[in-house]
Amino acid sequence: MVLAELGGSISRALQKMSNATIIDEKVLGECLNEITRALMHADVKFEMVRDMMANIKRIVNLEDLAAGHNKRRIIQQAVFNELCKMMDPGKPSFTPKKGKPSIVMFVGLQGSGKTTTCTKYAYYHQRKGFKPALVCADTFRAGAFDQLKQNATKANIPFYGSYMESDPVKIAVEGVERFKKENCDLIIVDTSGRHMQEAALFEEMRQVSEATRPDLVIFVMDGSIGQMAFAQAQAFKQSVPVGAVIVTKMDGHAKGGGALSAVAATKSPVIFIGTGEHMDEFEVFDVKPFVSRLLGMGDWSGFMDKIQEVVPTDQQPELLQKLSEGSFTLRLMYEQFQNILKMGPIGQVFSMLPGFSAELMPKGHEKESQAKIKRYMTMMDSMTNEELDSTSPKIFNESRTMRIARGSGRSVRDVMEMLDEYKRLAKIWSKMKGLKIPKKGEMSALSRNMNV
Ligand code: GDP
Repeated sequence: MVLAELGGSISRALQKMSNATIIDEKVLGECLNEITRALMHADVKFEMVRDMMANIKRIVNLEDLAAGHNKRRIIQQAVFNELCKMMDPGKPSFTPKKGKPSIVMFVGLQGSGKTTTCTKYAYYHQRKGFKPALVCADTFRAGAFDQLKQNATKANIPFYGSYMESDPVKIAVEGVERFKKENCDLIIVDTSGRHMQEAALFEEMRQVSEATRPDLVIFVMDGSIGQMAFAQAQAFKQSVPVGAVIVTKMDGHAKGGGALSAVAATKSPVIFIGTGEHMDEFEVFDVKPFVSRLLGMGDWSGFMDKIQEVVPTDQQPELLQKLSEGSFTLRLMYEQFQNILKMGPIGQVFSMLPGFSAELMPKGHEKESQAKIKRYMTMMDSMTNEELDSTSPKIFNESRTMRIARGSGRSVRDVMEMLDEYKRLAKIWSKMKGLKIPKKGEMSALSRNMNV
């Protein structure tokens, strides 16, 4: 995702500035210019960037900077706060409650990923114990009903639609009534899209909205549409009461800045992002952890959630303890590899750690990554306990390396590669030393704590 690039550019600009001996107006100005360029490059709307920079200049007091050592942190905190402010419209969106029927209507242009997202949203809530249902009120696109039906069947979610009926309002109302009677507590209405924002689309949306009276209207936006995001989101907001945004295709080349613009245009929060075509490639979106991750500060609350999801319960306290000790042994790496192979997406866990890019498990290359991990584990199987429990890679002299290679039927070069991977992970791990693992909601305290 290009947003990662944005985070990198901002971090570099801050780093460059903190390397300067004196921070004066000129140095700060250059740093902010670089951040401006990075945001513009990520497709954030110009006016928003301009306002943000003005706010930072107001907040950051140059005299404080000249006196203290924390210049980078002060500015980083200001950038962090401003980015959060940009993404947080100040009011949460409606959230469905179990056991009480809620109607959620999806709107968006054709191709934005609306139908896929409806199912992802239903599936997500189904796993949380909801009883969702899908209504296909898209009578414009041939095949829309089939697509929804197929997705819904796969996820075992009841659906409603018609091949014959051409009136979307009628279908929407019938579907909602039927699922209310069936005690579904989350009734999701998928509406038509068009290739362009046109009057007929907006009129149809308005009618469906008036007839079904949704508790929440979700605007689905393709994350890669760039500078057009603001105008598009605004046009939808003017026709129907958009209350939340979902940004799709954040796995591809989406620059992501459009998401920030959509928040500004609709004054509604981004609640999820789509990160792939599959049903479970869907992530809850939280502003602070997101921005934190963006700036390379790590996403602690996400990290804790992922640990709880992926690492077996009995291993969690030990893992966290080791994490805070900063000691990363090959045995620990081995255990985490076992978790990856058993449960899948620990690459996501590591990607939440500060400074860690998902190099070990790049998206789209999961098979190769798994093979690599298995190879590493075979080599580790040939290690002694002393080697596995050591925290110093220096222990691996020539004879040990050759023994491991021989024992595992691999080349010395393979062993070196595995040790390099270990060193890389150990370095990241060591950054965590002495860190108090925060509870949820302690993000800002943490970002002050961290030496990033
Ligand atoms: P609609 O016309 O808005 O209903 O869009 P669809 O749901 O049919 O999606 C259009 C295309 O985008 C399909 O090929 C989807 O598989 C794809 N798509 C949807 N969401 C995502 C996503 O988050 N990531 C990726 N890579 N593709 C997506």
